[in-house]
Formats: sequence, structure tokens, C-alpha cells
Amino acid sequence: MRLRFAIAVFFAFACAFPVFAQQSSLVIINARLADGTGAPLRKANLRITGLRISRIGNFRPSKTDKVLDAKGLVLAPGFIDIHNHSTEGLDSDPLAESQIAQGITSLIIGADGDSPWPILPWLEARQKNPASVNLAVMAGHATIRSLVMGKDFQRRATPEEIEKMATLTAHAMHEGAIGLSSGLEYYVASYSNTDEVVTAAAAAAKGGGFYMTHIRDEGNKSFEALKEEIEIGKRAHIPIEHSHIKLGTVAVWHKAPDYIAIINDARKHGVDFLADCYPYEAWASGIKVIMPDKQYQNSASVEKAIADNGGPESVTITEFKPNSAYVGHTLGELAKTYNTTPVEMYMRIVREGDAADTEAGVIGHSMVEDDVKAFYQQPWVMVASDGGIGSEHPRGAGTFPRVLGLYVREKKWITLPEAIRKMTSLPAKRLGWKDRGTLRVGNFADLVLFNPDTVIDRSTFEKPFELPTGIEKVFVNGQLTWDSGHATGAKSGVVLTVAGKAVGVAK
Ligand SMILES: [Zn+2]
Repeated sequence: MRLRFAIAVFFAFACAFPVFAQQSSLVIINARLADGTGAPLRKANLRITGLRISRIGNFRPSKTDKVLDAKGLVLAPGFIDIHNHSTEGLDSDPLAESQIAQGITSLIIGADGDSPWPILPWLEARQKNPASVNLAVMAGHATIRSLVMGKDFQRRATPEEIEKMATLTAHAMHEGAIGLSSGLEYYVASYSNTDEVVTAAAAAAKGGGFYMTHIRDEGNKSFEALKEEIEIGKRAHIPIEHSHIKLGTVAVWHKAPDYIAIINDARKHGVDFLADCYPYEAWASGIKVIMPDKQYQNSASVEKAIADNGGPESVTITEFKPNSAYVGHTLGELAKTYNTTPVEMYMRIVREGDAADTEAGVIGHSMVEDDVKAFYQQPWVMVASDGGIGSEHPRGAGTFPRVLGLYVREKKWITLPEAIRKMTSLPAKRLGWKDRGTLRVGNFADLVLFNPDTVIDRSTFEKPFELPTGIEKVFVNGQLTWDSGHATGAKSGVVLTVAGKAVGVAK
């Protein structure tokens, strides 16, 4: 009876996961391994059996193994993008070519306070229609705030409303969210105070989650915003992921050493603080984000905001439904074309956007390289894109290869093993994922094979969708999803919850 039961179980399992039916194994030979820990590259063979890595070392492939000769290539754990905006993109493009082409094998959505809702049906839909990449979702603070306060959100929340936000956060964690994200610089959350965020974050902490935040100000007041963030982490007893660390206005340029010193001090005093950084000196957002005082039609305020962001040539319109003629041009260029001032041009674009109930998308070239470099060289800073499927910023299709090609090979800011650690085990650590993010026997076979001599991004501000080169093969849960410039069609990604528990994979 027992044997029959075992056979039945195996059969059911094999049908659900056809890869087990064959138990085929593949050995990758002749690659150099960057194992994700930061250890130096080493030569070893690696066997994939089913979903997982089953052997690493100097062994010979057996007769039943398929063999993949990876001479000249580096084999690394799949890249984990902890800040990714593919929520809508995954519906229309589950193959996620622009993501997998970069070596991304897991992506976390729901950043900046804005998440799908409710969480469980969204996760179930993703399970039914899997993607080529693994997914996990954050609960969004602004999403929850809007649910509780409706349209009447331009004020402090009452204690009852704050309690409701905490309850909804706890519920989201229960349904499979992995933490709470916030975007305190953005409209809905900008009216929240620190106490409100602490209460919601504490509810996420109780569910085993972490707090990922786009802080209240990334420009003139970025130091105050950093202090608030650290306070939230301390009071809510929650690990912090600082989203897209940057110093984004002229007044704070070159101050990365001071910023880093505050963070190092907090870390020394027990605050579990990690950050991510995209490899560009330009951000992408809505046109209103440059005005913390929200005085969009006050010319003195607008003039100051444009100057703070590096001047009218530093702000480029990337998306504007009411008038596509603006797209691709800077505020300075548009002012000339329409025979007006950059300040008036800004106010006009905001007005035209408001009238159509939309907001222009912009890219702001307002960071400096030495700050980006200083952040990248911190051991607690990981790589994340802040991009995703369909991103109008080149980071959406270029982030990971750009770090490997530009920051490792060309500029030599960081070593290759360290860059890989920042793409794999460091995000895995923040996520609490124990069986992804390193090359270790028993881990899931999320793998990237790339050519360290050629890997580079090709997406630019003019052509943001160009795919990178040098990422040769990508495996997700043991299946080949990207092969020499093409998606294979495999959609072997799973949905992951707190501590990396997979929904849809039994073992
Ligand atoms: Zn953000």
C-alpha cells in the first residue's frame, strides 16, 4: 500500500512538474563560477537536476548528463531585482524578455508605496499565468492609505485610520506580501507623518517583512529624510531597504561621504540598513516630483526647483499623452520652441496634464558620478533597476549588464565577484531567501551565464528598449529561459512569499 501511495504521489508530482518526469540533468562545464558570496572566481562544473543545483565541483559528467560547454563564460546565480516596476508589464509580456535578457531571474514588484491590491488574487493570477521570472510583491503604503482615506487624504490620518492601515498591512502580509513599501515623496504619502508609517511598518515587521522606502526627499532635504527613515526602522523594529539611494539636487551634490557616514553609524548601532542603487546619473518620475512644496504654478518656486535639479536642460519629457510633441525634449528646448521661459513651460505642462487628469513623465539628469560611485562601493548597497518591462528609462533594459560592463570592466569601481554579490546574495539576504542567490548544492537553479569581456547595456535615453549583449544563457528553476539572444518561451518562474517560500513548487 505504501509503495502504491508513493507511486501515486510521484506520478501526481511528475504531472504537475513535467521536469521531474524526466529527471534530466545538465552539467555546465568549463565556466568560471562567481558564486554570489563575493568569493574569487573559480573553475568548477555544476550539475542541474530538476529544479535545483545538485552538484558543484571537479567531477566528470555521467553518460546520462547533458553537457553544456561554457568555456570563456562566468556562471553566476540569477540576478534578483528588488525594485522593479513590471506590475502591468507581466500581464501583457510574461516572457519578460527585457528582464531575462539582463540575467534577472527574480523580481520584486510593489515598490514606492504603490502595489497591486488585494494581494492574494493578484498572486493567484500570477501563479495561473506564470512568467519567465520568479516574483514577489510588496504591500504599498500609499495603496493602503488610499483604501483607508479615499479621496480625503490631503491631511494627517486619524488614530483610527492609522490602525486600519496597520490591519490592512497585516492582512497583506498574511496573503503573501513580503514587506511594506513606501514612497513618501509622492503625492498620497507625502501627507503622512512618521508615526503613521511606523505603525504600518510595525505590522509588516510582525509578519516577517521588511520596509522598503523611497524616502520623503531625495534632494535638498535628503539628510532629514534619511534620519526619518532610520527612525522608522528603529521604532518599528524592521529591516530597511533604502530604494534607489541618491543625492538628486545641486545643493547636496558630492555629499555622499556624509550621507554614507550617517548610514554606517546607524548600522553600527544595530539598524539593519541596506540600500539599492541604479547605475545612472538620471532619475525618472513624474514632472511634479521636483516640487516638494507642490506650488506648481508659483513661478519663484518653479524657478528654484528647476535650478535645484540642474537647470532646464536637465529635465527631459519622456511621456505626455495630451501633447506628444513635447516628448523627447528638455524644458529648455521646449521653452525655445514655444517662445517662452522654462519656468512658464513647466507650469504649462503641469496645467495641461492636470486638465487631462495625467502627469508628464520626465527624466532628470540631476545626480553626479562621484556620488553614484561612492554608493556603489559600499558593501551594503545592492544593484536594482527601478525599471521593468516597458520602462522609458534605459535602466529598464540595461541595469545589470551596465554594472558588469561599465562599473566592473571599464571603470573598475568594483570587482566582478563583488558586483555579482550585489546582484544575488545581498538582495537574497534582505528578502530572507535562503535557497536562492548563491551557487550551492540544494539551491534552486536560477543561473546566468555571461561573457565578462563583452557584457554591456545597449539601452540609451533615446532608445530605452535596446537589449544588452553578453548575457548568453539564463536558467530559472532549472529551465533554460534565455538562450543566445532569445527567450526560449519557458515560463518557469514561481511566486515567492516571505522567507522565499514558493507558491506552486512543493519542495
Ligand atoms: Zn522610487
